[in-house]
Amino acid sequence: MLSLFEEKELPESQPEFSFADVILPVPIPRMFTYKIPRNLYSEIQIGARVIVQFGRKKILTGIIGKVHNKPPQAYEAKPILEVLDHQPSVNPLQIRFWAWMAEYYCCHIGEVMHAALPSGLRLSSESRIQVNPNFDKENSPYPLDEREEKILDALENQSELSYDDCEKVLGIKTIHPILKSLVTKEAILIFEKVQEKYSPKIETRIRLRSDLAHNKEALEELFAQLSGKVKQESILLKYLRDVPVFQKPELNEKGLDKSTLLEEGDSESSLKTLIKNGVFESFKVVVNRLEEIQPERTASELSPIQQEAVDSIKSQFEEKQTVLLHGITGSGKTEIYIRLIQEVLESGSQVLLLLPEIALTTQIVSRLQEVFGSQMGVYHSKYSDNERVEVWNGVLSGRFSFVVGVRSSLFLPFDSLGLIIVDEEHESSYKQFDPAPRFHARDAAIMLGYFHQAKTLLGSATPSFESYFNAQQGKYGHVELHQRFGDAQLPEFYLADLGADRRKNLLKVDSTRLLREKIQEALDKNEQILIYQNRRGYSPYVQCEDCGWTAECVQCDVSLTYHQFSEELRCHYCGYKEKVPTSCPACGSTQLSTKGMGTERIEESLSLLFPEARLGRMDLDTTRNKYGYQRILDEFGSGQIDILVGTQMITKGLDFGRVTVVGIWDGDRILNFPDFRAGERAFQQITQVAGRAGRRSVKGQVVIQTRNPEQDIYAKVIAGDYKNFFRVEMAERKQFYYPPFVKLIKITTRHADFKTAEKAAIALHREMAQIAVKKIVLGPERALIGRIKNQYQFESLIKLDRSGATQQEFKKRLAEILEELQARSEFRSVRWIIDVDPS
Ligand SMILES: [Zn+2]
Ligand SMILES: [Zn+2]
Repeated sequence: MLSLFEEKELPESQPEFSFADVILPVPIPRMFTYKIPRNLYSEIQIGARVIVQFGRKKILTGIIGKVHNKPPQAYEAKPILEVLDHQPSVNPLQIRFWAWMAEYYCCHIGEVMHAALPSGLRLSSESRIQVNPNFDKENSPYPLDEREEKILDALENQSELSYDDCEKVLGIKTIHPILKSLVTKEAILIFEKVQEKYSPKIETRIRLRSDLAHNKEALEELFAQLSGKVKQESILLKYLRDVPVFQKPELNEKGLDKSTLLEEGDSESSLKTLIKNGVFESFKVVVNRLEEIQPERTASELSPIQQEAVDSIKSQFEEKQTVLLHGITGSGKTEIYIRLIQEVLESGSQVLLLLPEIALTTQIVSRLQEVFGSQMGVYHSKYSDNERVEVWNGVLSGRFSFVVGVRSSLFLPFDSLGLIIVDEEHESSYKQFDPAPRFHARDAAIMLGYFHQAKTLLGSATPSFESYFNAQQGKYGHVELHQRFGDAQLPEFYLADLGADRRKNLLKVDSTRLLREKIQEALDKNEQILIYQNRRGYSPYVQCEDCGWTAECVQCDVSLTYHQFSEELRCHYCGYKEKVPTSCPACGSTQLSTKGMGTERIEESLSLLFPEARLGRMDLDTTRNKYGYQRILDEFGSGQIDILVGTQMITKGLDFGRVTVVGIWDGDRILNFPDFRAGERAFQQITQVAGRAGRRSVKGQVVIQTRNPEQDIYAKVIAGDYKNFFRVEMAERKQFYYPPFVKLIKITTRHADFKTAEKAAIALHREMAQIAVKKIVLGPERALIGRIKNQYQFESLIKLDRSGATQQEFKKRLAEILEELQARSEFRSVRWIIDVDPS
């Protein structure tokens, strides 16, 4: 025990805190306060994992989010039972980022923690115990008491026990002191169930017995002995070819991967014989899942215009944290990024480059890899969890000072970011829809940059209106690049009038004569064609010609899409599927027809119209497995596909020199989206997909099929007139109170019973109307899709004044209101989904 005298001796630089707020993996929107026991004072650190009791029975692992001296008012704080980490698992900057995200996006910090940690590092719901494999009961210097013996006996029958199990074994409630004593006596280990999920990759390697590797004569003798044993001889030869021990005996140490050594046809049993006879030895090593890659080239020379952009970005960073790089498609933004990244890495800071979807941007990733090699980590959305943990650990250990990743890479354990780049910052896939936190990676990146005092560069050919607005207001710096790199030229646009062709009978399966001519010309010159339609499947409707019945999902209020390949009707919202009916379920007629064109049907009709062309298709259905996307890209890149039909996937950063024609199958479909961002989106999508045409010296051609060629937006896209388009749309947004002039929050109320959902939505609306801040509350209205997975949905839209104080006050009151409503028995099973800055 400490005497008073000793207590005074504690250095002042280490203030003592009596309480810690712990982030727990439970669905309750707050941190929980625990008492810090005196003996743990020195071990408590923000970000460290601790074991605590939660509720009456549960023992949970949590992360310390905050330390302070304020006792909780509503309950008596329980003590922290154990500190698991000597080094914190999560750094204070990360905790700060989590806390900001929870507050801004109206979710709880436990949800952010859940999203942030790869599941291999996630906290389990419960801690468990096992026997310490090093424990030797007979020779242990510590005698065990009766209760401790009982626990160890129980562990003989079961390899692991939960705290609950231990309570049952002993028939008492407070078991932690006993377990703690067992840990001190090194008899048991406390561990987390889920943490074991991460398993290092083990490789079996083979090497020559070491004296053979260093003795040429012995080796020659060995060959003589093996003569006639063809199989064994060939394995030995193969080994010596891959590991030239004659020249460099030290190479033998690392050996050769067993699967590399055993080529097809080589028998495992011959190798076994060689090992048995002491020629080879087998050993195991832990290997990285992530390949070592050596840099292949230095960065390219910048053009004078690119160099000017780099200089301008750097000088604007002197004054501003965020700079918008507005560079048209094909202007060579990647080389500009490379230059900036190199400079920041040389200064010793870390760099994060965000991409909307890595699988769709393999070209930029391989270009970066050529320059940065293994210094660069890639955080891929299709990576396995083990691979994610290795990237995480690579950032922690300093192996990766530069990471290219999707939105979740914002959560990696960076401690000194100097630069964050958000490429294609306008992309809607930066927004996480489900589950919480429903964050926007671009906005979160700017906040993360702020915490690190790092610079943030936003890059786009078609900036989001929010970012452009901020640049115009002087909040962000702004650099423009209006010239394509090299001799590449901007494409030529054509509007193909679907209505006129129909009247003249020139339409063939929804393709205009102009589009067909352009395709044919390109095919004749051995050039490639991209066809864009953002709708997968064969056709979006199946309808009865006699009574008008359409096939609908049984769980959602949407029509089912016909997929010819699998001969099924599928719901794109809930995954429900059924066989195509042979007759109308309403009237019995067999006159069922498909309406509308999905990518599958466009591919089919183009193959009929151009029988000599080789067709390919890229959409969710053809790219489901890890390599599906890459395979199609490779085929297209090597010229095995002439016409590639695809959804939005083909608009993202593809760079193929032989694409000269881009066809937009249904331009109107892009425009007619019921959202205030429809115009902005259409401008972005059409410009992006058009940007795929003519990336080298040949001028590209873009054909937009439309029923309304006179629409103003087409003229603006064709003229590349972003500024004017922005000005007109902004005037409208200002007049009707839309972002960036207000902040939006969308709240969806969901319940399986229509009446309950409606009642709950109205109750929420009434309460929100009372909150005394500057705001407009719209709704509640039935959602555009009134029912999904048998849940009825109502939506309210809140337009808030942009001031920080208004937003904080509203969000705080909203949380309280929802807690009150949820407590009412009639609304207990209602779900409320809050989406801040919906898109
Ligand atoms: Zn019918
Ligand atoms: Zn459905």
